[in-house]
Amino acid sequence: MYSWNKTEDRVAIIQMNAALRHAQLELLSAHCVTHQLRMRFSLEDLARHGQRDVLRKSVETAQFLSEYYSSIQDNIPGEEETISMSAPDLSEDHVREGIDRLTSWLRQQREHYFVSGVPLPEQHKALMGRYFSRSLLDQVRVVELDGQRLPNPPFYEEAKTFLANLPDLTHMASLTFLDVVVFNEKLAERSLFHSLVHVVQVQVLGVERYAELFVRGFVNTKLHFTVPLEAHAFSLESKFVVPGHESFSVEDQVRLWVQQGRYEWKREPGSVLHNFSKNSQAEHEM
Ligand SMILES: [Zn+2]
Repeated sequence: MYSWNKTEDRVAIIQMNAALRHAQLELLSAHCVTHQLRMRFSLEDLARHGQRDVLRKSVETAQFLSEYYSSIQDNIPGEEETISMSAPDLSEDHVREGIDRLTSWLRQQREHYFVSGVPLPEQHKALMGRYFSRSLLDQVRVVELDGQRLPNPPFYEEAKTFLANLPDLTHMASLTFLDVVVFNEKLAERSLFHSLVHVVQVQVLGVERYAELFVRGFVNTKLHFTVPLEAHAFSLESKFVVPGHESFSVEDQVRLWVQQGRYEWKREPGSVLHNFSKNSQAEHEM
């Protein structure tokens, strides 16, 4: 077994952690696509109409991974025995600083890209008019980077020492800076819809509150797509892609979530995905 006191072992431990982090990122992406599958299709439909061999292989892989990581978990020593290599604790001051930095970065980027932004083309306004108000669609500007790709914000490196799972912006289809939507590639309807949900969230909540809910959500859930603001955008997006669905107002949905406090993260034991699997309801004890 490696020892942190031997120089050559330290190198090996660092390499091991790099490999572990790589595996964890791959698992995260598997988690993300599975989550999208879960939001879009029922268990019954998947079980009945899913291609058998693909289902069987997926189940086997998931079982193997679960057993493997559980066996590691069983061997994790108590707090006092571990060398402190984990992420430093996030204090309330750090969280507040993160909220301030995110807020000013969103504002800066909005000013930067607004100049080169163009109004939404009429055909997209017509389609998106089924979910968003005309005034919002007239206000929004879009930018297509055409493969140039957005760099990570300047505060990312430091933030990643606390929050290792922060997603790289280069892997995202589009980014929303208040009322300006920037596409890493070309404008695509599905990511446009997703981004417009964020535009509504910013308008309803205000940019400071939006940034606060984002940062606090990420600190609590450690995953980008389980931050309630994101989870809601993904869940509305999954309604949007269903063929033949009825029109709905995204603003109404966002206001409902604000009213019900669903953008604030409340963790319940044994229910990691609590926030979008059911409404938060006060529970009474007999
Ligand atoms: Zn999003």
